[in-house]
Amino acid sequence: MNVKGKCECGAVRFEAEDVRETVHFCHCSQCRRTSGHQWAATRADNDKFRFISDETLKWYASSEIAKRGFCGTCGSSLFYQVNGADHIGIAAGCIDEPTGLVGGKHIFTASKGDYYDIADGLPQVKD
Ligand SMILES: [Zn+2]
Ligand SMILES: [Zn+2]
Repeated sequence: MNVKGKCECGAVRFEAEDVRETVHFCHCSQCRRTSGHQWAATRADNDKFRFISDETLKWYASSEIAKRGFCGTCGSSLFYQVNGADHIGIAAGCIDEPTGLVGGKHIFTASKGDYYDIADGLPQVKD
């Protein structure tokens, strides 16, 4: 599946081929803080992913093993990448519709917020 996407202000634009059809919802505290809630993402191989525009893109090292990409102008949470990985996580919410994506599973549910329940019937992985 091929997709295009952008941040809220449109300064960061990208396109990708063969993205994973399923969206994974991550409930870890880092994802919730950086995105505002659960982090919903698909992914693409690096060689199938291309920036159309990335002048305002900034990367934040959220841990020793990974970084998160966001727009320095509008603040949109856009990407997650394990250092040295051959693929990049892409926020489902920034992909142009129709996305063609479907819900896949919830991960890190053991650290989900206490202000909501997960009740959509998708598989849940504690960590
Ligand atoms: Zn932006
Ligand atoms: Zn997470």
